[in-house]
Amino acid sequence: MGREIEEPPGRRRPPHPWEEVPLEQWNDWRWQLTHRLNSKEELSKVINLTPEEEEALSVPSRFRVDITPYFASLMDPDDPNCPIRRQVVPTVKEFFISPEEVEDSLAEDAHSPVPGLVHRYPDRVLMLVTTQCASYCRYCTRSRIVGNPRAQFSIADYERQLAYIASNPQVRDVLISGGDPLTLPQHILEMILKKLREIPHVEVIRIGTRVPVFLPQRINEELVGMLRRYHPLWMNIHFNHPKEITPEVERALSLLADAGIPLGSQSVLLAGINDCPNVILALVRKLVKNRVRPYYLYQCDLVPGTSHFRTPVAKGIEIMEALRGHTSGFAIPSYVIDMPGGGGKVPISPNYLLSMSESKVVLRNYEGFIGAYTQPSSYKPHDPQTCPYCQSARESGQEGIAGILAGKVNSLAPQGWEEVHRRRLEVIVQPREAEVKG
Ligand SMILES: *Cc1c(COP(=O)(O)O)cnc(C)c1O
Repeated sequence: MGREIEEPPGRRRPPHPWEEVPLEQWNDWRWQLTHRLNSKEELSKVINLTPEEEEALSVPSRFRVDITPYFASLMDPDDPNCPIRRQVVPTVKEFFISPEEVEDSLAEDAHSPVPGLVHRYPDRVLMLVTTQCASYCRYCTRSRIVGNPRAQFSIADYERQLAYIASNPQVRDVLISGGDPLTLPQHILEMILKKLREIPHVEVIRIGTRVPVFLPQRINEELVGMLRRYHPLWMNIHFNHPKEITPEVERALSLLADAGIPLGSQSVLLAGINDCPNVILALVRKLVKNRVRPYYLYQCDLVPGTSHFRTPVAKGIEIMEALRGHTSGFAIPSYVIDMPGGGGKVPISPNYLLSMSESKVVLRNYEGFIGAYTQPSSYKPHDPQTCPYCQSARESGQEGIAGILAGKVNSLAPQGWEEVHRRRLEVIVQPREAEVKG
């Protein structure tokens, strides 16, 4: 007997307005998926819709609406600002597109050697395996491809993605995402995992998912029994608010953690939902209690129709200031901005380094205490020539600042920089050109 149908503590029958549904069906993930809410009529039975919500639900939406009954049951029927509700119920605000918002702001398509595979970083790739989710976040960073039931990835797409990974030995970490990989039929997901495991250089597989939050019923013995056969397998789960961590979710997290899957969380900083140091503090404490290590706190991407969700970056800095020192170090995520244009994730943090001299580094802590660390007066530098780990070559062009520090390159120049500066050299110091070139 699996733990799948075990009742969460205290629950004798499904919540309002599903009291008449047998508990066994309520706890069945298939029932949850086939009874998702997406219309004004259905949602009005669960929450008192505001005019802004009604209007958005009365016209064809820009982005698919679908909410599992379980997640809908967490919404406050009377509070239009309910943090659960605001993540999944559209309002007319999402019809407003501001000028900085673009369809593919992270330039993922430009980084895709084959459809659905994003290769941005030297040693890892993002593999998009489905366009479907259990419910749809209104601020979805991939709303350009997610939600369309007619645009699915095919077996042929997976094969092209796998062939690319197999022929690129520098790829040692594959991040399976979408859409939500845990909405795939289990045998399809297993086929992908199995084929990835057949590639010798793939060391780590990660799954990015929100199913444990939207559809915790899906996390059952059968699924985790399959997943644990493909270790080392990591999982990052999208959590935004402490209210998402219900007894059902806690049960799902413990099944996953007990299967030896290291769990991380990814959160998006959202105006009116979690833009509060104390909300995030409560969230990260509840996560680590459930063996989930907070991984990233994202600044909200420039996705069309999401300007009402975005906060100033200052809010993220303020939140990080409220975490460091105030709670366990392993409860603190990295706050990152995924750079528009495809620059990838850039960590942003308050400053703790105040000044330095040859011998002293002046620091401040979270309380405002200022102190110094004295650096060694004699230090025998590390010798890359004799270090075996320093011998392996990196893909040229991705050395970055680390490459400058390692002496591999002397400078990094923006595109066109050399042309502009060569012209200046010719104009200004033309007579000495031969000498310069020589
Ligand atoms: C986020 C992301 C990754 C993984 O980045 P980590 O910092 O290693 O978690 C890889 N590829 C792409 C395209 C990404 O957006």
